[in-house]
Amino acid sequence: MEGYGIHPMGLSIVQWLRELGRGVVDICYPGGCAACGVMQEPAGFLCEGCEQELQKIERAGGCYGCGMPLPAGSACPRCRGKGLYPFDQVLRLGVYGGPLRDLILRMKYHRQWTIAQSLARRLLRHGLVEMLLKDDVVIAPIPLYGWRQIGRGFNQAEVVAAELARQTGRPMVHPLARIRPTETQTRLHSKQQRAQNVRGAFALINPKIIDGRPVALVDDVMTTGATLREAGRTLREGNPGELSAIVLAVADPSNRGFTAI
Ligand SMILES: [Zn+2]
Ligand SMILES: [Zn+2]
Repeated sequence: MEGYGIHPMGLSIVQWLRELGRGVVDICYPGGCAACGVMQEPAGFLCEGCEQELQKIERAGGCYGCGMPLPAGSACPRCRGKGLYPFDQVLRLGVYGGPLRDLILRMKYHRQWTIAQSLARRLLRHGLVEMLLKDDVVIAPIPLYGWRQIGRGFNQAEVVAAELARQTGRPMVHPLARIRPTETQTRLHSKQQRAQNVRGAFALINPKIIDGRPVALVDDVMTTGATLREAGRTLREGNPGELSAIVLAVADPSNRGFTAI
């Protein structure tokens, strides 16, 4: 993720071009695997290899407090059981990599709603997500800054949140607004830089809608958690009930495959 020529989500120019190339493949060969693009017979969402790999990613243990990977039954060395303040829990599909990474990139850059639908469905198979979204909870996406959303025409957090809302019948609400543009977090490497970059980025524009109610804040990928924490802190001003974060994937902030604590 270091150096010049890195695009959002940590893509090098070569990877970026490859992603663009895949977009062409999508148009030409709609029967390809949504993650790796390989043609399959009969046509399905994922090829067998990607499906198995994704299931492995989903089955791997994670800390419910901070979302980081964790071998089953062990205590979390990252948050030491304290979780990610100000959240009561952080739920996710898995670690950012393999087919999960491919799907998130395709959803984001090729605006593929079918991928958001499928990933939301997979999130709902996660027992804790299913339980959380049965309650009186409201679902809130992390907002983008105005022109950024207009430029992209697509807020991937909102697409996933909308799918979770649609599949569970829970309301999607917009208690937050992004009140200033922020530099893309992927270009900032330290935790401090990322926290500084998003400080004061959100405003609570609709506190009534979350007053006393449990809130599930949705984003696509969590890296240092700086954006989620800043948005969470702003939401807390509105006196919500339990506050949870739901993300598709967690990425290693030091980009070392979660080997360093
Ligand atoms: Zn595949
Ligand atoms: Zn933890």
